[in-house]
Amino acid sequence: MKLMHFAGALAIGLGTFAAQAPAQDKGTIGIAMPTKSSARWIADGDNMVKLFQKEGYKTDLQYGEDDIPNQLAQIENMITKGDKVLVIAAIDGTTLSNALDNAAASGIKVIAYDRLIKDSPNVDYYATFDNFKVGVLQADSLVEGLKQRFPDVKPWNVELFGGSPDDNNSYFFYNGAMSVLKPLIDKGDIKIVSGQMGMDKVGTLRWDGAVAQARMDNLLSAYYTDKHVNGVLSPYDGLSIGIISSLKGVGYGSGDLKMPIITGQDAEVPSVKAIERGDQYSTVFKDTRELAAVTVKMVDAMETGKDVPVNDTKTYNNGVKVVPSYLLPPKLVTKENYSKVLVDSGYYKADQLK
Ligand code: BGC
Repeated sequence: MKLMHFAGALAIGLGTFAAQAPAQDKGTIGIAMPTKSSARWIADGDNMVKLFQKEGYKTDLQYGEDDIPNQLAQIENMITKGDKVLVIAAIDGTTLSNALDNAAASGIKVIAYDRLIKDSPNVDYYATFDNFKVGVLQADSLVEGLKQRFPDVKPWNVELFGGSPDDNNSYFFYNGAMSVLKPLIDKGDIKIVSGQMGMDKVGTLRWDGAVAQARMDNLLSAYYTDKHVNGVLSPYDGLSIGIISSLKGVGYGSGDLKMPIITGQDAEVPSVKAIERGDQYSTVFKDTRELAAVTVKMVDAMETGKDVPVNDTKTYNNGVKVVPSYLLPPKLVTKENYSKVLVDSGYYKADQLK
């Protein structure tokens, strides 16, 4: 009894101590993020820094600003400085093999964050979302929106956009979406008026909204002078913004020219506002707090010799090996549920969306 009390007091005492002074120094974690031009990556970085520090790690957070040599230099620098683990969301997932050979030679472990790192044996784990499911959610909502907004139109005229061809996720998003859309295209319910299909034709280098806007401008002037576009599959909010400006530029969303159904991803603030206004139909929310938490758990488990959390050991072959992964569930967000999913969960404050 006395002993139990003592043990209890000790536990409480340690708890208090841990809360006040978490930092027994467990070393530095290098965090290489792709760009600050998209709010999601800022949230990813900030969430990880917070959680790693709470676990007693130091952090070295760097953004590559979508410049491949820049990110490579940042990673090489982390290796030279002797960071213990690298957490990398690659700009181009195929260009890091040499750097990761050096990391492995120095005993530095590597986690691919959100985006798979290809062509290297030196990727220990992968923390991400169910990327195929992201595409399925986007296409399901595109079809749902087409039914709602254009019930009397057949076939629906649709154009497809893909993500950056150097990002492995882009193929998962595209293939997930096509698993839903292809049967409808084959049946004649959906027509891709431009005929442009396949990631080689619809990819958008560096996920650049301006590139998407220019391509949409071209599609409209080449194929839509005598017909209307009803839907656009967009894999990312930043592209949707460009696509929407292009459509508005030729009068969609005013008079009786209805806005097409446009999808997205990341639930970024300007795009949630576009959903409120009805310019964008949906987005896919991926809770960066959860991805950060899983990543920190992976790193801490590796460092303390515990079992590393994974729930998928089959899907993500990086060309050299299947990288053990943890996949989180993405959520569809529309006008109907955005407040519940994004505000009630504390991800955004109601004010931010006004
Ligand atoms: C991420 C998406 C993001 C895109 C553009 C992808 O790798 O999974 O969430 O929209 O990159 O930043």
